Amino acid sequence: MDGIRVGKRVIGAQAPVTVGWENIPRVEGGPVKQFIFTWFQPTMLFVLIAFWYYAPNSIAKASTAIGIGIGFKVLLLGLEWVNPRYASWRLTWKELVTDLFYVGLGYTLLRLADNYVGDGAMIEAIQHSFDWDKFAWFIGLPLLVQAFLISFTFDFGQYWMHRGMHNWHPLWLTHAPHHYITQLNINKGAVGNPVELFLIGLGIGGFFDFLPRAALLAGSIGLAVGTYQHINVRFNSPRWWRFLFNTTEHHSLHHSQDYEASRSNYAGSWIVIDRMFGTCVDGEAELLGMEGGRRMSIRETMVYPFVEGWKSLKERFGRPVGIAVPAE
Ligand SMILES: [Zn+2]
Ligand SMILES: [Zn+2]
Repeated sequence: MDGIRVGKRVIGAQAPVTVGWENIPRVEGGPVKQFIFTWFQPTMLFVLIAFWYYAPNSIAKASTAIGIGIGFKVLLLGLEWVNPRYASWRLTWKELVTDLFYVGLGYTLLRLADNYVGDGAMIEAIQHSFDWDKFAWFIGLPLLVQAFLISFTFDFGQYWMHRGMHNWHPLWLTHAPHHYITQLNINKGAVGNPVELFLIGLGIGGFFDFLPRAALLAGSIGLAVGTYQHINVRFNSPRWWRFLFNTTEHHSLHHSQDYEASRSNYAGSWIVIDRMFGTCVDGEAELLGMEGGRRMSIRETMVYPFVEGWKSLKERFGRPVGIAVPAE
């Protein structure tokens, strides 16, 4: 297979990929369908921002955000059913049951983290150790600017964490299981080893608790943009949207079976960060996964970083002396 030259790199030599927006198919169907699948994404972003901007304090809470998040995902599940991107990504019962395990696990860990860290001493310690006067300039900014800065700064950190995962073996071991998914759908963001969740979540937590409104707005940008990383819906996203934001197209390339293609599009919401650092490739892929699309079991996903990490250590340092070696 010949690859496609994109800047300095050649992608698509190992597995088929599409490069360039002009080569990506448009939504099929009449004008109403075209209209809906062109304007759905910007409209939802606008509606969510307007909601959090104007919502009274009594309902502007994290629990409302979680409820909206679930409602939004159910709505998108409906769109997947009406207008799937690829028939090969259609949800099967087996996929759904496995996905729901990870979604449940994610919520459980969130709950635990919230109970032990969320309203506990940790946040208070962080808040007390801060010189809040230094942040007066920030709180003086317009609310939407605060929200943008939180969203962009968080995504900037996540970009480098994600890129680090693809370039440093110990971090890669925690992220690799997520790359064994062979299709994108609404629940696939939750699939992976929990250690990864912890690493990605590092740096959020209660840090922004002093600015609930701006943080909730930033979270709604994450919901209304980042969710499209893992979804099986064909959209005609407007040009400005795909220039600024990460899309299913971008993230499908990131999950491609083609190694070079997967080394692109690391951002969560703001694909402009990839454009800034030369890692953005505009395009899409249908054939996803690792090792030719081998399915990784839940059990393997849970133990992968530890089992593979142990193997790597043994390869590197030989059989360690004085440490018990598990039977093979
Ligand atoms: Zn990745
Ligand atoms: Zn992904």
